[in-house]
Amino acid sequence: RSLQALQKQLRQESTAVSYPKRLPISLEAGKGCYVQDVDGNVFIDFLSGAGSLPLGHSHPELVGEVIEQADKLCIGLDFPTPAKESFIDAHLSMLPEEIRNAYLIHFCGPTGADAVEAAIKLAKVATGADEIISFRGGYHGCTNGALSLTGNRAMKKNVLGKMPGVHFFPFGSTSTSAASAVLNSNQIDAALLLESALEDANSGLGNVAAIVLELVQGEGGVYIADKGFIERVYQLARKFGILLIVDEIQTGCGRTGTWYAFEQYGIEPDIFVTSKGTSGIGLPCALMFYKKSLAPWPAGSHIGTFRGNQFAFIAGSKAIDVINRDAILHNVCERSEQIRVRLAELQHDFALLGEIRCLGLMIGVEILNPVTGKACDVTASKIQKRALRRGLIAELGGRDDTVLRMLPPLNVSPQCVNEALNVLERVLFEQTN
Ligand code: PMP
Repeated sequence: RSLQALQKQLRQESTAVSYPKRLPISLEAGKGCYVQDVDGNVFIDFLSGAGSLPLGHSHPELVGEVIEQADKLCIGLDFPTPAKESFIDAHLSMLPEEIRNAYLIHFCGPTGADAVEAAIKLAKVATGADEIISFRGGYHGCTNGALSLTGNRAMKKNVLGKMPGVHFFPFGSTSTSAASAVLNSNQIDAALLLESALEDANSGLGNVAAIVLELVQGEGGVYIADKGFIERVYQLARKFGILLIVDEIQTGCGRTGTWYAFEQYGIEPDIFVTSKGTSGIGLPCALMFYKKSLAPWPAGSHIGTFRGNQFAFIAGSKAIDVINRDAILHNVCERSEQIRVRLAELQHDFALLGEIRCLGLMIGVEILNPVTGKACDVTASKIQKRALRRGLIAELGGRDDTVLRMLPPLNVSPQCVNEALNVLERVLFEQTN
């Protein structure tokens, strides 16, 4: 039935869809870290709605809240409602205390990309400048502006009319892998390149409104920003009056072990955006936070019918209760370490595994051709397919899809981690023998 459903979908749906091609299953149910397809096969879901299910599938307490809300009020728009009020309070309470009062929250259209659009617009309005600095390998979404900031040429191929005035620089990551050398400079070089371009009147940069970055490039292959690099970028932004926009769409809401990744870098972004984990249960709700000092952002500047919905609000504030009550961020750090240690053991046994990169529960492993030692998309794709057959859903990422990526739910248990990595071990064994 999964196969029939897939074939039907591929006849009816745009050819541009990707998950049904990479992960050809038709899903019927999900609970916690597990999903079941229409044939009754059960899979461990280490993709969790591309990170949008921080408490796994259908967390019972969140589901209860959503059902109750459905009977009460289901409106979008930006009227004040009790559900919205508790959501805002809950999200602001998760900001570090010293900056809790420094930001305003702006509800964006349902997707992360829309929050990126809002951030670009606000930066332009606030600075009166129009150019943006972005980084190679970064991903910010598929709308025109967000795609223009995305540092992946293949994704932008054939798309004419991208936003002008975007300049790409190498990303200073912690990676030392030769496989990633094209995308990443070492940290010092990357910061120096940016600095010299900003200092040099002839570098081709005009009036720069903002620097946009992810602290962990997720889709780009799980590259973790180097602390020294980010400090330097932060100082440069301050020095040149450029706003720093941090894209926490994937890293936010606890994914990296702190509520936001920027907390680990000692910076205060002027603007940051988040979306995937905001509702805790996979309901769309994209947010932009911006420093009060950037206001006024006139009424009607970034509107839309579906800016926040009552279900996401009610589930999102409950999710934060659960995350605090059950010490979920602590679990993120412990499971991260458990996964890292186990992957390192597997790396020792299997030459297919290259660099392991993880911050919290954003996990990436380079897949290599064991003979050449080079990153290998064909092998990565085989491993992903075999894993699915053996009951593990994982994703690929990186510019050439050579990185096996995992985004398990933040409340994943040690037993489930073991189970998933046992599947991976078996898959690596099959792939090697
Ligand atoms: N920025 C980052 C860092 C992301 O990971 C994503 C989604 N993968 C986006 C932006 C775009 O979000 P959405 O798919 O909700 O538009």
